[in-house]
Amino acid sequence: MNIHEYQAKQLLKSYGCPVSNGRIVLKADEAKSAASELDGPLWVVKAQIHAGGRGKGKFKEAEAGEKGGVRLAKSVEEAETLAKQMLGRTLVTHQTGPAGKQVNRIYIEDGSDISRELYLALLVDRQTSRISFVVSTEGGMDIEEVAAKTPEKIVSFSVDPATGLSDFHGRRVAFALGLEGAQVKQCVQLVKNLYRAFVEKDMEMLEINPLIVMTDGNLKVLDAKLGFDNNALYRQPDILALRDETEEDPKELAASKFDLNYIALDGEIGCMVNGAGLAMATMDIIKLYGAEPANFLDVGGGATKEKVTEAFKIITSDPNVKGILVNIFGGIMRCDIIAEGVIAAVKDVGLKVPLVVRLEGTNVEKGKEIIQNSGLNVIAGDNLADAAQKIVKAVKG
Ligand code: GDP
Ligand code: MG
Repeated sequence: MNIHEYQAKQLLKSYGCPVSNGRIVLKADEAKSAASELDGPLWVVKAQIHAGGRGKGKFKEAEAGEKGGVRLAKSVEEAETLAKQMLGRTLVTHQTGPAGKQVNRIYIEDGSDISRELYLALLVDRQTSRISFVVSTEGGMDIEEVAAKTPEKIVSFSVDPATGLSDFHGRRVAFALGLEGAQVKQCVQLVKNLYRAFVEKDMEMLEINPLIVMTDGNLKVLDAKLGFDNNALYRQPDILALRDETEEDPKELAASKFDLNYIALDGEIGCMVNGAGLAMATMDIIKLYGAEPANFLDVGGGATKEKVTEAFKIITSDPNVKGILVNIFGGIMRCDIIAEGVIAAVKDVGLKVPLVVRLEGTNVEKGKEIIQNSGLNVIAGDNLADAAQKIVKAVKG
């Protein structure tokens, strides 16, 4: 789960990290009073969406020369005008995809005078099963581009969980960032605070881009992007409360409410499968026969008829879906339950695209019988390869 920049900054502030003063604005008429509560003489007006690259992003229907979602203002009035301009518009950045994201919240900050922009991130490195630091002197830029063009400018190391974090790690970050004097001490403290926040709040990613050296020499967190481990949210109620459902894919949101493991993709064949491994294999075999999966969907081992119905509804609500492949191995999950769920769902939402069903395992005969007797236009698949070929043929002709 991701949260907004202003929420991330509030959280990091509570861990003692230096951030600017700011006010959140939800309605246009709050912008002026919010801006006037900050000192100036510089204000920063920032669109809050769960995507990076806002500064270089573009609003839909932008006027010629209009800038992106992070803008500087020289007065309270200008900050108000900018906030009003951005609210409700759709911002497209390299991370939103072409559809962009609607801006429903604006963060107005006290502007900082920047001397240098740096990059600092923490993430869970799956290869080493450790928390890694990734730092670079090239902050404020797209880090993927830095990694591609000048990889030597990125320094990365991991922390041994047995010995934990020590001042040494902070000094290593400071050295990599070319910090000097009092900044080194600030950096050591910052690294400690970030690491503690990361571990205590079950984060999987913490990215500060940029971390700045201000003209007065002090460090400040100027942008912050935090991602949390969904599997740990049950023990992080204060983080869960920061969830902004309008930022999430509506299909993924519906799926999460029914405890379905669903990820939207951009292909044309909707898949309903039980088990993550089987779902992967199903996606692979669809590709092998020349089509693309529209989603990953694992209905889980103990799905009920209601859950299957809901899964089916989510798949059919995707306009890209031109055909559906149901691939179930009945183990804990019985084939007849799946068959009943599919029939109930088809009767409920209707079937406008070809449907291939492949069942195998516990109660398979009963499952096939239910589907055959339903009178619905369902194509039976004999095995995985046969089913995949049939659905690809039905979609692609
Ligand atoms: P992003 O584009 O979504 O990554 O948004 P950021 O918060 O990183 O802002 C983009 C850029 O705006 C930064 O890299 C800075 O160059 C600039 N910026 C943001 N806040 C300030 C500020 O307080 N003062 C100044 N002078 N520039 C800022
Ligand atoms: Mg940034």
